[in-house]
Amino acid sequence: MKRIVLILFINVAVFAQSDPYQKIKPIPEKLEILPLNTVKPQGWLKDQIRQNLDGFTGHLDELAPDLIVSDDIYVKNRLSKKVKNKDVGAIGAEGDWQVQFLWWNSETQSNWRDGYIRSAILADDKEHLAKIKSYIDKILASQDKDGYLGIYDEELRYKFDNENGELWAKATLLRGLLAWYEYSKDEKVLSAIKRAVDNTMKGYPINASHPFYSKNENVGGLSHGLTFTDVLEDLYRITKKRKYLDYALFLYKDFSENKLNEDAQYAKLMDKNRLLNGHGVHTYEHLRSLASAYQASGNPKLNDAISNFEHKIDMETTATGGPVGDEWIGSRKADATKRGYEYCSLQELMHSYESLMAKTSDAKYGDKIEKLFFNAAQGARHPEQSCIAYLKSDNSYEMTGGLNGDKSDAKQTRYRYSPVHKEAAVCCVPNAGRIAPYFVQYMWMKQGNLLIAGLLGPSEVETQIDGKKVRVEELTNYPYDNSFTFSILSETDFTLKIRKPDWSNGEIMDVDYDENDGFLIVPITAGENKISLAFTAKPETRQDLNGEMYFSYGALVLAHPIKSQTQVTKTYPLDGFADMNVTPENLVVYEYVSSDVLKLGGSRFEVKLVNPQTGKEEPVVLEPVAKTVLRQVTFKR
Ligand SMILES: [Zn+2]
Repeated sequence: MKRIVLILFINVAVFAQSDPYQKIKPIPEKLEILPLNTVKPQGWLKDQIRQNLDGFTGHLDELAPDLIVSDDIYVKNRLSKKVKNKDVGAIGAEGDWQVQFLWWNSETQSNWRDGYIRSAILADDKEHLAKIKSYIDKILASQDKDGYLGIYDEELRYKFDNENGELWAKATLLRGLLAWYEYSKDEKVLSAIKRAVDNTMKGYPINASHPFYSKNENVGGLSHGLTFTDVLEDLYRITKKRKYLDYALFLYKDFSENKLNEDAQYAKLMDKNRLLNGHGVHTYEHLRSLASAYQASGNPKLNDAISNFEHKIDMETTATGGPVGDEWIGSRKADATKRGYEYCSLQELMHSYESLMAKTSDAKYGDKIEKLFFNAAQGARHPEQSCIAYLKSDNSYEMTGGLNGDKSDAKQTRYRYSPVHKEAAVCCVPNAGRIAPYFVQYMWMKQGNLLIAGLLGPSEVETQIDGKKVRVEELTNYPYDNSFTFSILSETDFTLKIRKPDWSNGEIMDVDYDENDGFLIVPITAGENKISLAFTAKPETRQDLNGEMYFSYGALVLAHPIKSQTQVTKTYPLDGFADMNVTPENLVVYEYVSSDVLKLGGSRFEVKLVNPQTGKEEPVVLEPVAKTVLRQVTFKR
């Protein structure tokens, strides 16, 4: 008898030790994320947010009124058992597949609004802000007495055994409401958010329910719902109540323990040889939910899962920082020509890296974020028109629907430019309106009396250190220029930390400084200060994962722009918007030969490459990927 007891005891001990979800010691975030609008965009970043507001971000409700205005999914048209079908703007067979995605318009609406709210705040646009205020009032008025905010009627909510959008519709909605609260400081908004989250925690009680149970393991909205951790983390930052982080840990555990076709489940991450396979957007956004579970538990097993996950994501990342998935990652590695990345994935992975940067203060995330945002993300927007590519590849030879001109799937419309992309899904355009505001918010962070420029670019930050006002203006055209002026007005002494990009060959600064862990450390005395800084860059020749060669200068990945023709394929009742196909005029896919890269001036370069049609070397111009439509980024040897 004694022996049995002992064996049982040992088993329990071993289990506890191997339980990756066991709370050990929560780890505080190293850096303080500043509330929205504390960091303001300047220069080209401000211009881009303004252009988005005047373009697809400011007008998506008019461009897709059926999905955004007519379907009042959070208020009048909540989903009930009676709703069997609705227009969700996606191609697909009728029947089960459609019914599964009835939550879809909540994503379109709320992700769009999140980007719209943040852009209007950062641009301080009174007209848009007034429109947003009346939307906020309407949403708050839709809250049920028990605190429920969401898309399901009483009969359906919290009672699912299959695909559903319960948590996802809330996560997207509440991210926007949190942005509005950070800006307005309106306590009514915060109270509505807290009540909605408390209602969720009651609907799915912690450790006594299974929000991620589904009899079908291929789910969409259900597993997107793991990003409810974004809301929980924000509420924790505001209220300091641990219950929100504990709930985030519970969500990750339940997500991991259910049978789902998802990459970010703990057991799959611990299999180092398993390549990522799932739906790209899910995979990349789940990185930060895992990071939040690690923060909540301090369990080193979850930290091991994060490092495995990051390595797997590196295997899927192209030279420009684009995480592939078209729309599935499909256990195939990144490839400059044969793999595309979705705009949604760009926003979601960037946000995940931002979350990790705040948690760890590791400078490497700054490099990853800048690479993705300055190259892949800028390069998937049309440089002149207000429209984006839903899917884009580094080597982009034709944008007529299929990947590089592939016509095998007549329904593939994602590789072209549109301000809506209704034929596929209205997910990427909303996220293209979120990405610049999310970049801006994380440019500056705090840690005690340190003010940290983690992401570089034209910006302005005004905050308090030790209760005293500090204002820094960062004047630069970075990444198109590598020199900076920091104009500082401060009521107190503090320390300025500036991330030194990984590509930098050195720096010139006109004040005393130290260097530590990828940051330049500059002591600042109270009063007015001005600092000049320039990072030294030279054109670099690099290799991608597949051994193909590419060129970079500073934070910019360079591309050979391909001369092209544009055909408008659809116009909208609203002036200035169109869908467009782009075809090459005379496509030559160049090959690499070792040669010097000449700087022509501005961000233009010249390099010698081999034209395989003639077998001869030719001088070829390179420009930042950000400025291109059709282009060649990598060159085979
Ligand atoms: Zn998308």
